[in-house]
Amino acid sequence: MRGVILHGPRDVRCEEVPEPKILHPTDAIIRLSATCICGSDLWPFRGLNDVTSPMAMGHEYCGIVVETGSAVTSVKPGQFVVGSFCLSDNTCPHCKFGFQSSCEKREFMTGAQAPLARVPLADGTLVATAELPPDDLIPSLLATSDVLGTGWYAADAARVRPGGTVVVVGDGAVGLMGVLAAKQMGAERIIAMSRHKTRQELALEYGATDIIAERGDAGVARIKELTKRIGADSVLECVGTKESMTQAVQCARPGAMIGYVGVPHGVQLDGQSLFFSQAGMLGGPAPVRRFLPHLMDLVLGRKINPGKVFDLTLPLADAAEGYRAMDERRAIKTMLRL
Ligand SMILES: [Zn+2]
Repeated sequence: MRGVILHGPRDVRCEEVPEPKILHPTDAIIRLSATCICGSDLWPFRGLNDVTSPMAMGHEYCGIVVETGSAVTSVKPGQFVVGSFCLSDNTCPHCKFGFQSSCEKREFMTGAQAPLARVPLADGTLVATAELPPDDLIPSLLATSDVLGTGWYAADAARVRPGGTVVVVGDGAVGLMGVLAAKQMGAERIIAMSRHKTRQELALEYGATDIIAERGDAGVARIKELTKRIGADSVLECVGTKESMTQAVQCARPGAMIGYVGVPHGVQLDGQSLFFSQAGMLGGPAPVRRFLPHLMDLVLGRKINPGKVFDLTLPLADAAEGYRAMDERRAIKTMLRL
């Protein structure tokens, strides 16, 4: 089969790779219905993470189970499943506490930009639907695997409440999903920080009530203006740079929570600013498994349409163009058809 391999900075190829096999009794093999490129795939693509050996790319997935290891009991061949990018047993103390992304047996999914993929810890990771979903819901179900789950976690970690005021820093796919999540959680005011017209439009469609194009101090000043100088009850940080984190802290009202899900690169926070901000922070890799059943129900019931975040769809063979389009911000998120 052909799968997507990153060989070095900006060198991503769809090439011949071995078919995955069951390696452990707790594994499952799935045939993917669709896959996609993550914003975090751009870090190694841009050379900001070291690539020392060829990397099998892809950690967002949904599809049909084709084979299970001897210990797998919760899913069986023929079922449609979605899993998180974090693989977890869903039984250890961290999993039971709702933090499956810190599972004692945690592994990270790889190799999902391919027609077939091996999913370790299948019982704890995969969630099956009652029946095969209609084709038009595949993009939205795929989105629950990471991008929606991560945006949802940002909103959950920021304790978005009905009637609350929310600021979303970052207009990438995760930020847009954060807007959707805040809306679902009943926020009254959702301020999206975005400078790009197509992203602003999607943010409004997902429930943003205000758009702020300014950044840095000017952006913070606008937030203060919109919130009667109070600041936001909840801030979703969906970028991971020093500027975005600083902005998130400055937008938060005393007692606010900041949910930060952008993987930090070069972030250093000033202790005194943090101290006097009196804001709480919770972030990290999203425990998507905690939210998956609920998010899949919302999609299957057609209550939400996170799949709209895919504004470019390409065949797997053209994955390299998908990476370039996202890198150059010509696309918000690329779905790869198999
Ligand atoms: Zn666990």
